[in-house]
Amino acid sequence: MNTDVLIVGGGPVGLLLACELKLAGVDPLVLEADTGQQRITRSLGMRSLNARTLHTLGLRGLVEPLAEAQWALFDEIRAGREPVEGDIVDGLVYMLKQGFSGGHFSGLPLIGDTGNRVPEMLMLKQHQLERVLAEHAAGLGVEVRSGCRVAEIADEGDGVVATLADGRVVRAGYLVGCDGGRSLVRKQSGIPFTGTSATMTGRTAVAQLADPGALTSSLRAPGGLVNLSLVPGEVATIEFDGGPAERDAPITAEEMQASIRRASGTDAVVLSLEAGIRYSDNTRHAETYRKGRILLAGDAAHVHSPIGGQGLNLGLQDAANLGWKLALVVRGQAPERLLDTYTAERHPVAARVLRNTRAQVALMRPGPQVDALREVLSEALELPETRKHFIAMANGTDIDYAPDAPRSLVGRFVPDWEIEGAGWVRESLGDGRGLLLDLAGAPETRAAAKGRDDRVRVLAGAVDQADAAAVLVRPDGYVAWAGAAEADLADALDAWFGVG
Ligand SMILES: Cc1cc2nc3c(=O)[nH]c(=O)nc-3n(C[C@H](O)[C@H](O)[C@H](O)COP(=O)(O)OP(=O)(O)OC[C@H]3O[C@@H](n4cnc5c(N)ncnc54)[C@H](O)[C@@H]3O)c2cc1C
Repeated sequence: MNTDVLIVGGGPVGLLLACELKLAGVDPLVLEADTGQQRITRSLGMRSLNARTLHTLGLRGLVEPLAEAQWALFDEIRAGREPVEGDIVDGLVYMLKQGFSGGHFSGLPLIGDTGNRVPEMLMLKQHQLERVLAEHAAGLGVEVRSGCRVAEIADEGDGVVATLADGRVVRAGYLVGCDGGRSLVRKQSGIPFTGTSATMTGRTAVAQLADPGALTSSLRAPGGLVNLSLVPGEVATIEFDGGPAERDAPITAEEMQASIRRASGTDAVVLSLEAGIRYSDNTRHAETYRKGRILLAGDAAHVHSPIGGQGLNLGLQDAANLGWKLALVVRGQAPERLLDTYTAERHPVAARVLRNTRAQVALMRPGPQVDALREVLSEALELPETRKHFIAMANGTDIDYAPDAPRSLVGRFVPDWEIEGAGWVRESLGDGRGLLLDLAGAPETRAAAKGRDDRVRVLAGAVDQADAAAVLVRPDGYVAWAGAAEADLADALDAWFGVG
């Protein structure tokens, strides 16, 4: 078996990366160890997709099917609940429909009207997201093989070799480890993974309680967190106990019962348990996302507590950042140094998320001092500027890949501009090519892009709010360059899209 790029791990990040590569004309092969049923079993709890992830997935037309999946899930959730006045689920649905929710910070709601025309937050199950991405991948012709566990990898300088658990061998030009937090690819590549160890244990289970009505969901329960307020049948706890002693053994009804009792301070009884997961706040970061022909993306590159719902968002945006760059390098259209911008751009973004999730864990700890800290922060969040800052941080909308660029537009996600007569800019990137916006009708702008039709599409028309004659947008939606047509556009095209 030979392929351009071998992706180890067909979770959300591996699937999206494969789609991005295929769209850019490269053949990826995804090897996934698990089978479909195993993936549904581990998909406990909800996953929230934040604004920047939805901007990114929206470029490829994926928000609509994800929104459909979300509403189907909420219909199911509502059907499984007694209708009551002021139900938390009704409140959440209202917020999601109105676009009011900016997520939360350690359980403190971040409410702000985005005023945007598309959803800025979705909540769904991970297996629903994986299904939508798998369908997108199938539509593009991506090959995904389930039940294929990679056991060994080697970078041979001019290519990589992966050996499967059953002894089969796959050769590829590049290999990307999208194989989750315990990544074999990361371990065997020797990339250091440094950080801080677990201080808490989270457990989520599908469990039957003897008297669910006797248990109250609380972020500030006596021994941590207890939650049974969203997905019917699921119960979740968080305890600040130094991390799970046992990571691999399946959770039992006894373990879940003991945890609920410690966290809630009640004598709750768990009658049976169907499935359960444990997680922690083990927080670590790969020192680089690339070593030779081996790259890392998603949880393989960074792990942290899921409090605040950021890991998946981070990983999906890694995939969007890497896909088009790796494709250009594999196709021989850009030099390898383009790949260095992947670590340079994404590492600081993840470092910030690691910092804010550590802070969120600290704010969850029980005790009167933390109660007071939460009250102080809640007050601060009433200030519009503070709230704006936290919403941008939780949603990745403050990401700036070029903070030193003379024009603030550069390095930022392209604004939701409508081009007169040519539609929405963010809807014009669906084929995975970059976009050169000729906003002043200058013939030199089109001339500069000549010979790169396969990588860059030119779109002409006026935009009211733009303060540049031309704007170059990368396939991941970020602005690579903005300026006057005759300025250094050709250099920018060469740097980001290879010579014409
Ligand atoms: C309770 C909980 C709630 C969460 N909530 C949120 C949230 O609201 N928002 C958010 O952004 N994030 C959330 N997260 C985090 C999110 O689930 C992860 O960040 C996300 O799953 C990472 O995706 P990934 O594709 O990088 O890795 P994974 O989802 O772990 O996928 C890795 C894949 O690689 C496969 N694999 C592993 N080893 C091999 C091998 N050797 N060979 C082949 N295949 C292999 C695995 O089977 C798996 O399918 C939550 C996590 C938990 C536990």
